[in-house]
Amino acid sequence: MVRRNEIRAGERAVTMPEANDAGLVFIGRIHTPWTDRLQCPRQGRLDGPACRIELFEPWVPGLEGLAGYGQVEVLYWLHESRRDLILQSPKSDGRTRGVFSLRSPVRPNPIGTQIAKLVRIEGNVVVVQGLDCLDGTPLVDLKPDRCAFTPLAPRQPGDDQIEGGD
Ligand code: SAM
Repeated sequence: MVRRNEIRAGERAVTMPEANDAGLVFIGRIHTPWTDRLQCPRQGRLDGPACRIELFEPWVPGLEGLAGYGQVEVLYWLHESRRDLILQSPKSDGRTRGVFSLRSPVRPNPIGTQIAKLVRIEGNVVVVQGLDCLDGTPLVDLKPDRCAFTPLAPRQPGDDQIEGGD
């Protein structure tokens, strides 16, 4: 069962420091079938329902070249999460441990990441399978998955210049 706002046995909340604003910009919005955290999968599955990642302007031209990849890494902001629980006791086993040993959505900076199957791109919308977030979740970033098993996009002239440019 997903938490609402309760503090479970063993958990510890901290006082959130004032934001040290990194200037994060939400570049889009994710449309999924789930409107309640209770319905959301804990982790997405590559055979899950198709979800639509809507890119806002002026970021849409940044999709150029993405279609050649089979999988995409999606980074999103789990905007309905509380952020102050440094120790957590997951409902699954009740064993208390630190936030950084968990993939809980409750974290100081509630960034979710997921490798998703890239189904198609339609204009400013990237259709994927494999997400686990609420409808309306803000999009932080998209990256081509670079695991060894991912089909590589066809090489383009000039690729040698940008290789390793991360
Ligand atoms: N796959 C990501 C990861 O590992 O970083 C997220 C995993 S997190 C366990 C997924 C859960 O976060 C969902 O089951 C749901 O309970 C919760 N969740 C999804 N979207 C959310 C949102 N926008 N705000 C707060 N919680 C959300």
